[in-house]
Amino acid sequence: MADKTYSFSGESSTGFDDVEEFLLANEAVNNMPRDRFSQVIDLMHKGNRAFRENRLEDAIHCYSKAHNLKPGDPVILSNRSVAFSRISQFLKNRSASDSEYQPVNGLDPTTHAELALKDAEKVMNIRSNSAKSYFLKANALILLERYEEAHKTLVSGLHIDPLSNSLQVSLQNLESISAGLIKRTKLWKPQRSDDFDCTLCLKLLYEPITTPCGHSFCRACLFQSMDHGNKCPMCRTVLFISPRTCSISVTLNNIIQKNFPEEYAERKSEHETLTNLGVDLIPLFVMDVVLPCQKLSLNIFEPRYRLMVRRVMEGNHRMGMVVIDSATGSIADFACEVEITECEPLPDGRFYLEVEGRRRCRILRSWDQDGYRVAEVEWIQDICPPEGTRERDDLQAVARDAADLTCSWIRSAKEAARADRRSRRTEVLQAEGMPGPQDPESFSFWLVNLLNLRPSERLELLRLRDTREVLGHT
Ligand SMILES: [Zn+2]
Ligand SMILES: [Zn+2]
Repeated sequence: MADKTYSFSGESSTGFDDVEEFLLANEAVNNMPRDRFSQVIDLMHKGNRAFRENRLEDAIHCYSKAHNLKPGDPVILSNRSVAFSRISQFLKNRSASDSEYQPVNGLDPTTHAELALKDAEKVMNIRSNSAKSYFLKANALILLERYEEAHKTLVSGLHIDPLSNSLQVSLQNLESISAGLIKRTKLWKPQRSDDFDCTLCLKLLYEPITTPCGHSFCRACLFQSMDHGNKCPMCRTVLFISPRTCSISVTLNNIIQKNFPEEYAERKSEHETLTNLGVDLIPLFVMDVVLPCQKLSLNIFEPRYRLMVRRVMEGNHRMGMVVIDSATGSIADFACEVEITECEPLPDGRFYLEVEGRRRCRILRSWDQDGYRVAEVEWIQDICPPEGTRERDDLQAVARDAADLTCSWIRSAKEAARADRRSRRTEVLQAEGMPGPQDPESFSFWLVNLLNLRPSERLELLRLRDTREVLGHT
């Protein structure tokens, strides 16, 4: 028999959490042999004494022996349940340092609580209207952290005995445990440590992607890094992922969004400023002069422009195209906004683009952002003579004449193309989608696009504000 004692500081041993005396009077009617009956009484006395001296294992040993002699006795089972609960309680409250100093062998708190529950349920079956059995069951359930069932049990017990002080106190305790739990769940927040930072931008992860090697980065940061090579920036594992097929780690993203809402909102707006620059700000692709209505295809392979194209494609699909002015050696003062009408990401990270010139702008100022240029611009249009003036009528007439001429040119060009498949095919293709002469400005640019003008000439055209002058070039 183990002689271990369990010490409890300042705990009361009255009420339902104490063991009951085994009374002879109750059992006098039983047909049990006398010597056997006195053995049970003896064991119960020993057990109760051991219990009150906190020798709980001894107590359980006695109760179990008594139970073998007299199975199904509610007092024996009830006392054993109290003793099991007491051990479970003791083990749960034991500090880690105590356990290190003096390890407790044998059963763990959960197993003890389960045994306490089993005995309590047996007592309940035998004495269905005893408030104490509800108390024992609820107590074991609380130790098992099955709080909802414990609550139900206590409420049922109070139906049987509304005045039971032990049940009332237990219910109050349980309610304060649950309130504490709810509070703790609400207040629980992962510490805002570096764990949620992207190692590339050193900020809170935004739209995190977890690589097959297990590292997480902001989606934009990872692909910006992959523009320079397909290796994980952390461990250099070769990555076979692409911006199109790779999905954001939903769970990680939710954790971040829920726990750091303000910082997340900040990161979101930061990201949106990069993709939607604002009405008069455009990213610039420095290459060639593009005129309104002009169509061309581009291959984007430089890392800085890959980044720019990704951002443009998340935004309004528009960017500016500008040339280096040979006269000054820096970017020209006028540019053209183009719309990306087709964007095909290639497996190696490049992009194949089809763009179409939309409107002209004058660059007010420009600066560098992540390796490419962003400009503040002012949109420009031809100065159109007011409706009803002679100038306006003249302009319309010139445009109409030019349109008529163009139509007959296209017809002959098509015939020529039929005769000789290779020549003039591109011009004919470009000639499709002619704007009507009622919009002289668009028409004039559409028309000059049919010509093979030098970049400097085309830059001149971008600067013009007089439609007739543009038409004069044709
Ligand atoms: Zn990042
Ligand atoms: Zn890695």
